Amino acid sequence: QRSNLSSTLRSLDGRSYGNYKQIRGRYEFGPVTVFIDRVQVDPFASPSKARIRINRAEAGFPTDITTEREDRIAASDFLFRVGNSFLHRNDRRAIILGRPGQEVLERTNVVIDDEGFEARLLVNLPARGRRILGHQAADILTRDVPELAQAMFVHANLATSAQASDGPTRDDSGNDAQDDSSDALREHVQLHRDQLELQNHLGEEDLLAFVGNGAILPRRSGDSDLPMDSRAVAFTSPSSLEHTVTLSSGRSLTGMAIPRGVTVIVGGGYHGKSTILRALERGVYPHIAGDGREWVITEPSATSIRAEDGRAVTGDDISPFINNLPSGTDTRAFTTTNASGSTSQAANLVEAVEVGARSLLIDEDTSATNFMIRDERMRALIPAEREPITPFVDRIRPLFTRRGVSTVLVAGGSSAFFEVADHVIALDAYVPQEVTEKAHELVGVDPAELEGASPADRDAASPASPVNREDESADDSGDMFAAPRPRIPTATALRPSSKTKSAKAKGLGQVQFGKAFIDLAAVSQLIDPQQTTGIAEALEYMAEIFDDRTSLTDALAEVEDMLDAQGVDGLTGNRDHPGHVSRPRPQEIAAALNRFRGLRLVE
Ligand code: ADP
Ligand code: MG
Repeated sequence: QRSNLSSTLRSLDGRSYGNYKQIRGRYEFGPVTVFIDRVQVDPFASPSKARIRINRAEAGFPTDITTEREDRIAASDFLFRVGNSFLHRNDRRAIILGRPGQEVLERTNVVIDDEGFEARLLVNLPARGRRILGHQAADILTRDVPELAQAMFVHANLATSAQASDGPTRDDSGNDAQDDSSDALREHVQLHRDQLELQNHLGEEDLLAFVGNGAILPRRSGDSDLPMDSRAVAFTSPSSLEHTVTLSSGRSLTGMAIPRGVTVIVGGGYHGKSTILRALERGVYPHIAGDGREWVITEPSATSIRAEDGRAVTGDDISPFINNLPSGTDTRAFTTTNASGSTSQAANLVEAVEVGARSLLIDEDTSATNFMIRDERMRALIPAEREPITPFVDRIRPLFTRRGVSTVLVAGGSSAFFEVADHVIALDAYVPQEVTEKAHELVGVDPAELEGASPADRDAASPASPVNREDESADDSGDMFAAPRPRIPTATALRPSSKTKSAKAKGLGQVQFGKAFIDLAAVSQLIDPQQTTGIAEALEYMAEIFDDRTSLTDALAEVEDMLDAQGVDGLTGNRDHPGHVSRPRPQEIAAALNRFRGLRLVE
């Protein structure tokens, strides 16, 4: 088996490309095993699939931090970055390991199991025309690929990381390099542990998000996820919202804690409102050291909600927001192929809540105004029974008090949300301050009048307080937020007619499903094209679950359970080489299902 992969390849030089297929198999290079799982049929087909693997005993770093599931995710991410920077530094373009971003995601590219460490590669086997370039292929597969395995699993030296700045590339013998790399790995794993502990702490303390003092929220540019340079103003918490947490590692963090409930972010245009909200959106994922958002942590189900006119909607109960449409359409099971701004935002919201979002993140920039608010004069001019929309400002509190769903809202253009806010945060030149009292005074609200306000506020209540807006609609919202009706896709809903592999990611923002395309461009918490691939795999997986009885949420829960038990490999049917796939959140899988124009429901 160690065999003569090299001599085989050299002997194939100049022969027709199809002859590459005979190199499938398993080869040993010292401690490194190389598996060639699939060979492309021609130079233009998708690349060939190979894996590199070593046993635990051979790893050049401490393996005690690679036993727990969450540690394995972080350690895999570290090794993934090591491999990537090695390929980049050495310009090994034929070998593809996948491209890491600023977040740590669970992915198939590098996996750690009880036996050892494995990386899944895509390799473009070289050709001139349709002839095999055998000597080059031998260099790639018998020199470059094993070298990559050594770099990742034996040296594990992340030379381009922040820790190593422009330090030495590689030191094969020195203990120093070895220690540096295992320290870096340890730090990477520890950061991830701390981030998850902080996220758990949020849940225990009834907090929705945490933004650490010193965080750098703005990005370098609209098309870069890297931190802004020295012009960035570091985050500082308003003193009233400041919270200090000491983690079990001994790390102590101070920053702004956003409590559950309704939080409104105000401030002048260009003062950094959307930037904070976007950081919270991303805070559902842990960020790598040096990103600036390491300590921006949001509870994991938080979902960004926006208007998305033109999307399809299938059987959503949007009646809490929209009723009595002039067409007579039943909005308790609302279906359209072309939603308006307000109906699309209502659909996005009820779908998020359906799959268990406990907090919503909403920016005025991407909202439909008529979904959000209606001012007093308009209420006077258009009688309620002539207006199908109950604006979000009237629903935001019952959503919290009856469904436990919190909201963080950016609203710089209207004071309408002051009276329903537990907290109002004003940004002035990127510096936040809490202005809740002032905002409540302006609209004449006593905090104790807010349903679900904290007991402390309630004690401070004075008898002469104004009435809350939500009371106008208290009668109907009671029922509306009571029991969501499960949506049950038909058994064939996800079985498109096409016989071939039915779902396929097309970049970050689109999934091809049979002959249809699912547009995910508006799904802002979908951040990595490999997650889109994960969504495509999840849709295929769910096609097998739907049986005219299983609800959409039950099917998603089944997918989550499987992912927790088997990892992302399970999504792909545990093929030897599953390709490059990342774990999507259930929210984003649901987003794809909900935007699928072929979705059909039972009854
Ligand atoms: P708003 O939503 O309040 O209009 P944005 O969040 O869009 O403002 O921010 C406006 C600009 O300011 C953006 O170009 C953003 O990158 C930049 N910016 C945001 N936060 C900071 C900060 N903390 N330091 C420096 N620049 C920032
Ligand atoms: Mg904005």
